[in-house]
Amino acid sequence: MSNYNAHYELRCRECGRSWGNQPRSICDECFSPLEITYDYEALRPSVTRESIAQRAPNMWRYSELLPLPEGFEPRLPVGFTPLFQAPRLAEQWFGNTNDAKTVAQNLYLKNDAVCLPTLSFKDRVVAVALANAQAFGFDTVACSSTGNLANAVAAHAARLGLKAWIFIPSDLEPAKILGTQVFGANVVRIAGNYDQVNRLCSQIAEERRWGFVNVNLRPYYAEGSKTVGFEIAEQLGWRLPDNVVVPMAGGSLITKIKKAFDELTKLGLVEEKPVKFFGAQATGCSPISTAVKTGSAEIDPQKPATIARSLAIGNPADGHYAIKTIKQSGGWSEDVSDPEVIDSIRLLAATEGIFTETAGGVTVGTAGKLYRQDRILPEETTVLCITGNGLKTTDVLAGVYEIERPIAPKLAEFEKYLQDTLESVGVVREAATVGV
Ligand SMILES: *Cc1c(COP(=O)(O)O)cnc(C)c1O
Ligand SMILES: [Zn+2]
Repeated sequence: MSNYNAHYELRCRECGRSWGNQPRSICDECFSPLEITYDYEALRPSVTRESIAQRAPNMWRYSELLPLPEGFEPRLPVGFTPLFQAPRLAEQWFGNTNDAKTVAQNLYLKNDAVCLPTLSFKDRVVAVALANAQAFGFDTVACSSTGNLANAVAAHAARLGLKAWIFIPSDLEPAKILGTQVFGANVVRIAGNYDQVNRLCSQIAEERRWGFVNVNLRPYYAEGSKTVGFEIAEQLGWRLPDNVVVPMAGGSLITKIKKAFDELTKLGLVEEKPVKFFGAQATGCSPISTAVKTGSAEIDPQKPATIARSLAIGNPADGHYAIKTIKQSGGWSEDVSDPEVIDSIRLLAATEGIFTETAGGVTVGTAGKLYRQDRILPEETTVLCITGNGLKTTDVLAGVYEIERPIAPKLAEFEKYLQDTLESVGVVREAATVGV
């Protein structure tokens, strides 16, 4: 295709056959997934820390390492979300100890709860997928989604003037459904779980000339996730961390953060260093963490039953490669129960001021577990990937907080209210003191 750069193309992950650039995700020879490969030798001289630093703070600063068609002009400044330390979370986990002080120095949050435009890391993958959808001449884009992808495809399609068809399990969170409809997308609710929705989309993709971001455009889509890894390294001062903790649904993000670190190393932008990859899942949908914990190299599909809807994929497309990434790095995978997810959402909000969705609760809960298991050590530089925003999943907190009774708009009323509140706190404190 003439409008494609020569420096990247599709290759089969197993047999290595080259497929050029086209909307296709599977090798016809061996039925393995395709992946974008780059000519790193050609890129080496032009991709430097300095050339990147001169560009605007968004994911397009890494354009050479993304599959972007010739002449592509970004229409949205996606990505470059904040990376910062989490000392109060460390203190909550470790109490008043030396370990708490050490963790406070070494624990980082990568906050894609504020990724623009739709408040999850899915904006990154969609930005790359739709750039290619346009180049391939699709006027309609589509996806199967557990929620965040739906929001992102709908928003980016609106911005680019593309039609969007979004397929979701019927029981998704209302905010994620509304947050798709508002962009004018066609939303098709399917009475089934994500895996059934996804199977249907594969069939539709064979029938219609539509760009399905996570079916026929999947190799292009998946590359967008690498920008999380590029940003982590750059924001740590062009240094790789010792550990990353990544929530897993289809298992793509975790493998792409590894690919990003490998590419930066290959290009000489960071020093080579072993990084351990830790996968996080909800116990109610944990096909990848179960495989890691039982020593299996393959996925045993599950029927999802968890409040962490955005991660509820029972038969993850990249499960095999996620397991491989985790094991070869010397990392591990864990999962947490739904009550632990809720506790972790509240903990992160109350300590660091970040309101994350259920997937972030999964990540924080899992990270706490990994510290307690000594799989992550206090002195190691560790990054937790917070991938989505809590305002989309407020349903899971329904009933957790009391609704306060209203008071009259009078100073005396407030003084009395304050007194009552302080007294109730005082009683609790006294009881605790007596108890000790
Ligand atoms: C999709 C999603 C993930 C996981 O992505 P995969 O690449 O499918 O593993 C993590 N967090 C959130 C909030 C997501 O929406
Ligand atoms: Zn092949």
